[in-house]
Amino acid sequence: MQYQSFNPPQRLLMGPGPSQVSSRVLAAMARPTIGHLDPQFVRLMDEISELLRGLFRTRNQLTMPVSAPGSAGMESCFANLIECGDKVIICRNGYFGGRMQEMAERMGGQVVMVEDEWGDPVDPAKAEDALKQHPDAKVLAIVHAETSTGALSDAKTLAALAHKHNCVTIVDAVTSMGALPLEVDEWELDAVYSGSQKNLSGTPGLSPLTFGPRALERIKQRRSRCQSWFMDVNLVMQYWSGESKRAYHHTAPINALYALHESLLMIHEEGVENAWARHAAMHKVMRAGLEALGLTYIGRDGARLPNLNAVMLPDGMNEGLLRARLLDDFELEIGGGLGALAGKAWRIGLMGTACSAENVLTCLSAVGAVLAAEDSSIDAGAGVAAAARLLNA
Ligand SMILES: *Cc1c(COP(=O)(O)O)cnc(C)c1O
Repeated sequence: MQYQSFNPPQRLLMGPGPSQVSSRVLAAMARPTIGHLDPQFVRLMDEISELLRGLFRTRNQLTMPVSAPGSAGMESCFANLIECGDKVIICRNGYFGGRMQEMAERMGGQVVMVEDEWGDPVDPAKAEDALKQHPDAKVLAIVHAETSTGALSDAKTLAALAHKHNCVTIVDAVTSMGALPLEVDEWELDAVYSGSQKNLSGTPGLSPLTFGPRALERIKQRRSRCQSWFMDVNLVMQYWSGESKRAYHHTAPINALYALHESLLMIHEEGVENAWARHAAMHKVMRAGLEALGLTYIGRDGARLPNLNAVMLPDGMNEGLLRARLLDDFELEIGGGLGALAGKAWRIGLMGTACSAENVLTCLSAVGAVLAAEDSSIDAGAGVAAAARLLNA
């Protein structure tokens, strides 16, 4: 066997993540590795925490990236906030609520599920019923932006309900942070995590996390130690915190953190509110184009994510085949449907640096081409034309 260096193709990533990583971020990652306790690196860590506070819109001291992907941010929240036997209410309206259930059960949580249809937002009335029926519950967990369906839930209302019933909130903001309003302090969200590879357009493998006062109080009151040594925030913070002397906890993924810093800097330069506005504006253009090509949006008006366009294909189309053609012939990656939507739907991401007029037009022209090849009644250029009308208006 003759081994060679791996040279990946140059794709355009417009799926549910990872999203496009800019050359600026990739260049940052290639800078020289230094030590994880080097004073220069410690300064970078402080800046990363500060930039993350800006994105989470929080003053929480405990704000840092977990050295592992978004799922590890999720696991960190459950590991720190629940103890064996604790009752946990989890709202599930798609794939990721199910992952939360898996984690909470493995940690010995007594899990109560609040179910909504895939595609719908979490219904606050159902969540409130569960909170009333289970006054001993300790945690309410929700997915702010459900990437499997494109549904946006009302995190602020759900957090207020949770607090009324003495629960702390765990909020999955993997797909919301950086693309749409997320206000950790104003909405009083207690434990919130995100991911580097979606709207931040960083390289995959890091999970920004923030814990507020209620979460810290809950941790203080624990009767048992956090089950996970690696994720125990009391230990991790001895490395990340600026206050006490830095102590070795684990070797940070130094170069991945250079990349995260650069991607956070890019959003900071743009302004987080401008980034939200860009995602909202490009979503409108993408929507006009996809609908002109005969694709229909899943979910409800007013509760859709701007950065994850979940659409049904016309009947009889082979979505997997068409998606493979997009990748092979046009270097474009989009996502397929998950669960009940598998084989019938596409998930087209507009995340971070991928969210531009240029990429919307590229995507619509490629999608138009593959759809028209299957069905001659579809006008290959209809999507681009509809998008151009909006862009030129
Ligand atoms: C992608 C995603 C995750 C998991 O992130 P990984 O980096 O893949 O572990 C969790 N929650 C939501 C809503 C996501 O979209």
